[in-house]
Amino acid sequence: MIHPLLPNQLQKTQETMRMAAEFILRPISRKYDKAEHEPPVEMEQLNQAAAAQKETGMGDDSVKSMDLKGRNLWAVISLEQMCWGDVGLFLARPGTGLGNAAISAVGNPDQKSKWGKRWASMAITEPGAGSDSKNISTAAVLDGDEWVINGEKIYVTDGDRCDCVVVWATLNKAMGKTAIRSFIVEKGTPGFSVARLEKKLGIRASDTATLIFDNCRIPRENLLGGKEEVEMDADAAKKSFGGAMQTFDNTRPMVAGMAIGLGQAALDMTRALLAEEGYEDNFGASMGQQTAIQYELEMLEAELEAARLLVYKSAWMMDNKMPNSKEASMGKAKAGRIGNRISLKCVEICSMQGFSEDHLLEKFSRDSKILDIFEGTQQIQQLIVARQVLNKSSADLK
Ligand SMILES: Cc1cc2nc3c(=O)[nH]c(=O)nc-3n(C[C@H](O)[C@H](O)[C@H](O)COP(=O)(O)OP(=O)(O)OC[C@H]3O[C@@H](n4cnc5c(N)ncnc54)[C@H](O)[C@@H]3O)c2cc1C
Repeated sequence: MIHPLLPNQLQKTQETMRMAAEFILRPISRKYDKAEHEPPVEMEQLNQAAAAQKETGMGDDSVKSMDLKGRNLWAVISLEQMCWGDVGLFLARPGTGLGNAAISAVGNPDQKSKWGKRWASMAITEPGAGSDSKNISTAAVLDGDEWVINGEKIYVTDGDRCDCVVVWATLNKAMGKTAIRSFIVEKGTPGFSVARLEKKLGIRASDTATLIFDNCRIPRENLLGGKEEVEMDADAAKKSFGGAMQTFDNTRPMVAGMAIGLGQAALDMTRALLAEEGYEDNFGASMGQQTAIQYELEMLEAELEAARLLVYKSAWMMDNKMPNSKEASMGKAKAGRIGNRISLKCVEICSMQGFSEDHLLEKFSRDSKILDIFEGTQQIQQLIVARQVLNKSSADLK
């Protein structure tokens, strides 16, 4: 459905993306759920068509004419619609990496022009550091005009297929989070290798990789944003890690948008399956006449819409240069939670059809879980919101 609160330009985006999701992603959803780690060749055709459209001046006018101010809301709307189609396939589309969001949020003009259009994944998580990202051990040491990177990163989305990786590393682990910086490492750089690919519960169309950095040398200018010096005053130090964390204010609304798209997909499919069975919506009926299914669906629709509005707001704030950290986490927590709840409830409502591979509901429920985990789990989002509401620091509230 076209959202009435959105300006015309974004309604057009919504329509275009929904069509791509319905006619390009959905028909190959099951194929790449089964063929884990196989590159989705049809997506390559989609990308070539999009590139050709760009060159010939055709394509989505709403994107071309959009000034930078509405970019985040535009991205959320696009992701929502594409993930109505298929989350895993969307993640497998070149240029959609979370590293791209990092480059766009904190990269300098040279970095944006050099790397902005390459496919960049984001490597933060390590065997010993997940939610506690300030505990990373991957090290970066300056040697002449090069950084030397050593360490292991795990569960990197698009880690195998991307062109480059934004890697979080520490300049001095003993100094804690103030010494953490991010670096752009290009594929093919000696010392950088993909050790293995994960087999997963969901989003199987997207690759998830373990990356090894063994004396990997990169140019000095590949330090993303931030300062080279590790010794700095407390204020500068706070800003430096804050710069890295700022990426999340940008990416959390995107992941939340993905969860909303998936939630809507599950609800739409449930209604379609119920209609095939002869079930009729009776929304005008008094409470005593409503069926249990109708009550469930109404509650889920309302929760989804509440999450949607919260997420749109967090992206709009970002577009208008307003601090959105609390809203980004609120939206991610709410959308992740409701996306999980809706997709499982829809499996339950449709029972055999929900559980069967004849339909995509069971796949939606598997794909949905990750949206409540990566870019910060449900519990971590709640912690961030609590800190802000109670005005506590990360040291006060762990
Ligand atoms: C498919 C997939 C793709 C991923 N893609 C990427 C990627 O592209 N880049 C990347 O860097 N990482 C990626 N990750 C890693 C992901 O970000 C982490 O899994 C996530 O941050 C949680 O870390 P963890 O798994 O180590 O769990 P832990 O941090 O060990 O947490 C385990 C549980 O404890 C809870 N918990 C932890 N700390 C607290 C606390 N203080 N209070 C309350 N509860 C707490 C968590 O919410 C969680 O439920 C991916 C993971 C998966 C599964």
